[in-house]
Amino acid sequence: MEKRMCLACGELVVGRSDKRFCHDACRNAYNNKRNSLPNSFVRKINDILKRNRQVLGKILGKEKMQKVSREKLLSKGFDFDFFTNQLSNAKGQIYFFVYEYGYLPLDEDVFLVVRQKTSE
Ligand SMILES: [Zn+2]
Repeated sequence: MEKRMCLACGELVVGRSDKRFCHDACRNAYNNKRNSLPNSFVRKINDILKRNRQVLGKILGKEKMQKVSREKLLSKGFDFDFFTNQLSNAKGQIYFFVYEYGYLPLDEDVFLVVRQKTSE
């Protein structure tokens, strides 16, 4: 039988196979921490970034670069307020990156989606 450790304190959990905590107090402590404000704030932003990354990844597919309209990005749930980093190229154009996917505003309504070259 597989040994399970309590998610809150790391003690061995005995009992039903779906039990994740050694004690009610541990479950409560864990859930309180998980739902605390700073954590839920971080989770919310992570969720937005994840969705943005997914949207860019889907648009790019297997292409190296792909033009897309602002309208299409918005319709997929893209949130322009959230990105992970910015990179500027030799021309001084600024790309907004969400993890490995980036976009360059070509004008008000058109963006060029790219994938960051990785060294691997
Ligand atoms: Zn515990």
